[in-house]
Amino acid sequence: MSNAHSPRGVDFHCHLDLFPDHAAAIERAEAARIYTLTVTTTPKAWARNHALTRGCRFVRVALGLHPQLVAEREAELALWERYLGETRYVGEVGLDAGPRFYRSFDAQQRVFRAVLERCAEAGGKILTVHSVRSVKIVLDMLEAHLPADRGRIVLHWFTGSRSEARRATELGCYFSVNAEMTRSERGLALLAELPLDRLLTETDGPFTQVAGRPAEPHDVAAAIAGIASTRGLTAEDVTSAVLRNLRALLQANRGYRHMLLREGGAQSPVP
Ligand code: MN
Repeated sequence: MSNAHSPRGVDFHCHLDLFPDHAAAIERAEAARIYTLTVTTTPKAWARNHALTRGCRFVRVALGLHPQLVAEREAELALWERYLGETRYVGEVGLDAGPRFYRSFDAQQRVFRAVLERCAEAGGKILTVHSVRSVKIVLDMLEAHLPADRGRIVLHWFTGSRSEARRATELGCYFSVNAEMTRSERGLALLAELPLDRLLTETDGPFTQVAGRPAEPHDVAAAIAGIASTRGLTAEDVTSAVLRNLRALLQANRGYRHMLLREGGAQSPVP
């Protein structure tokens, strides 16, 4: 069941505004009919991203404040709060306790807590969350500040332990998987722990590569192939599962307030 209005795949975390030609990258995602969530790293990027995707069928923008930028940009939280009513999608947000960013970890937690609290108040948001070296604290904060019926979490490029994966699943999280995650033994062992009905795909382009160039939304085929081979499924099976999961995610807990807002511009292929 496929027609020109239905998506052929899902890239639930990429950065189209970091490609040299932002508008062309959006057009290519539209032409490939990949349901794409393009994230922003600072709320200052929101207005232009939003304007460029207003008429899109398949590309959506998330409003973000990246944990790796919080050291310099904590004050932009006010701007992030100002735009929140304009979108259902939030990201890139989260925590990063890697050595380069650890010094801002207190500030990151202040920002992430505020993000979760504002999303819980608003209801119906979908968040794409970064959790490098901080999965336990991210999950603790989700549990404390964003009840599952007030918002949905997609853990992007998840690198936690298998027990943390189980805990995240119990908390209702989805996982967006990219091809890099299918290229290591550890990644494959972790992937085996994730329930098929919680899997989405992503590229995180331009931060991952395919054939020596930055990955774009249509390159989710590589993630699909990796998931398929670890599970003994066909690429078609995995694609169907991911599209089904996308629909379930988008239909879950749509806040009443959100239903009063128009989400896309053109008719949306899925909610
Ligand atoms: Mn990213």
